[in-house]
Amino acid sequence: MIDTHCHLTFTQFKDQIPDEVDRMKAAGVRGCITVGTTSAESAAGCAIAAAHDSVWCSAGVHPLHSDEPVDWGVLRACAQHPRCVAWGELGLDNHYKTPVKAQQRAALEGQLDRISRWSAEGLSKPIILHCRDAFDELIPILEASGLPRDRMVFHCFSGSVDEARRVLDFGSWISFTGIVTYRNAPEVQAAAKLVPSDRIMCETDAPFLSPEPIRTAKPNRPAHVMLVAKHLAMLRGLDETECADLLDRNACRFFGLPSAIGPAGGVP
Ligand SMILES: [Zn+2]
Repeated sequence: MIDTHCHLTFTQFKDQIPDEVDRMKAAGVRGCITVGTTSAESAAGCAIAAAHDSVWCSAGVHPLHSDEPVDWGVLRACAQHPRCVAWGELGLDNHYKTPVKAQQRAALEGQLDRISRWSAEGLSKPIILHCRDAFDELIPILEASGLPRDRMVFHCFSGSVDEARRVLDFGSWISFTGIVTYRNAPEVQAAAKLVPSDRIMCETDAPFLSPEPIRTAKPNRPAHVMLVAKHLAMLRGLDETECADLLDRNACRFFGLPSAIGPAGGVP
């Protein structure tokens, strides 16, 4: 199992990374992706990934940080790092009033534009999208970018069944966090049942969103992705091991990670 989305650079994990990696492995989680939210955080994520074999990283600017200056040179350097497996997270967030829409949109389009150019130069990577209450606006912008839709994942899905269908019709992937385990999220659970088995992933979004039955635990951590996977297995009527294997294979395929089965057939 891989935790495809966490934030090991956040203060909750300061000086705790080796412990988190140990906890993760003890729980049966063989790796995680620490996701960038600013250019500086992306660089910090690269440094963590460089120091730990089981951690990968991504490069991008989160919509809620779109009012901060971006160092494009730093982002590009992160993307060139061998442990950097994705762009992101980028997108739109209408849950909060600030940064204002125009600013979020400029940061998103600025990134998509550079991703297109840098991809053409050989820095092609999948894209992790943050979309909160913004499907109507985000999907047309992604469409206009012309970037491959099957290399985009809507992370931390919190929308309705209809919105899940729109993402799937668009051709992208959907990833679920602990929200899918919450009793007050029946729409997200219904969405989790309809995503095809070759386009579903799971994640923690740690340090946030601890899953049930430890919803009040702080911080959430990569080790807890097993609880999200277990809930997805239950919702989809799958055996837990079968579901964990499926999610691991999907994460490997989407992000180009080494598969759980090593070249010699053993588990590395
Ligand atoms: Zn995140």
